[in-house]
Amino acid sequence: MKAKALTIAGSDSGGGAGIQADIKTFQERDVFGMSAITAITAQNTLGVHGVYPQTLEAIEKQIDVVLSDIGADSVKTGMLFSKEIIELVSRLLKDYKVENIVVDPVMIAKGGAKLLQDEAIEALKKHLLPQATVITPNLPEACAILGWSDINSTEAMEEAALELYKLGAKNVVVKGGHLNHEQSIDILFDGKTYSYYTNNRINTKHTHGTGCTFAAAITAELAKGNSVSEAVSTAKSFITSAISEGLAIGKGIGPTNHGA
Ligand code: PLP
Repeated sequence: MKAKALTIAGSDSGGGAGIQADIKTFQERDVFGMSAITAITAQNTLGVHGVYPQTLEAIEKQIDVVLSDIGADSVKTGMLFSKEIIELVSRLLKDYKVENIVVDPVMIAKGGAKLLQDEAIEALKKHLLPQATVITPNLPEACAILGWSDINSTEAMEEAALELYKLGAKNVVVKGGHLNHEQSIDILFDGKTYSYYTNNRINTKHTHGTGCTFAAAITAELAKGNSVSEAVSTAKSFITSAISEGLAIGKGIGPTNHGA
């Protein structure tokens, strides 16, 4: 039977990030994709031009009807926007006993738009991170969760992974793309071992949606029954080719190529 994955995230009208990136990635990885939209963003390659959160009722209904009927082998969370949405999503994932949960702690778009309210970070730490099978923060997100000012080396990334692990996630992937380094280094910590996933840095500005795409690929691989380390390894290859064939569309920062 075809594996099924649900993404609970924001819509990117420009098609590069959020729900759209997740669904395209699920399709590419041969997984049946479903969605619950938490917020609509009016977005293009020039940035986020509007954010329209959906009602708690609409979010709950989407998750409820999908999980009570179709079910999901894995669930990914992306842009959750508010404390109330985080609390709702956390409760529903518990109620439905979802086993594979990938939490991408989306906070700020590359252009600077806020995709998570400041006061929601505590709710993320308290409710959602402890339920996660895998969390996938980039360096600014890891800093915001831990209250650190900077992560500027792989040693500091390992320390951050350990501290994030202590918040309750079963596995932590700290993404080092923001590190000023010739290579793009992501570190997976499972509570025992630090595994490095390294590729040469690709010189392109068309990287919109990389975080969403990477986490969606992990979610798809978990849905198919792969282990976390296999899922991260496949997702790293997938995102590397997606970035290497980034699309120069629009007037600004184009998206990664989900079909590369
Ligand atoms: N828009 C939405 C709805 C997202 O979920 C994300 C994900 O992080 C972004 C935009 C950010 O995209 P980027 O920072 O890659 O431009």
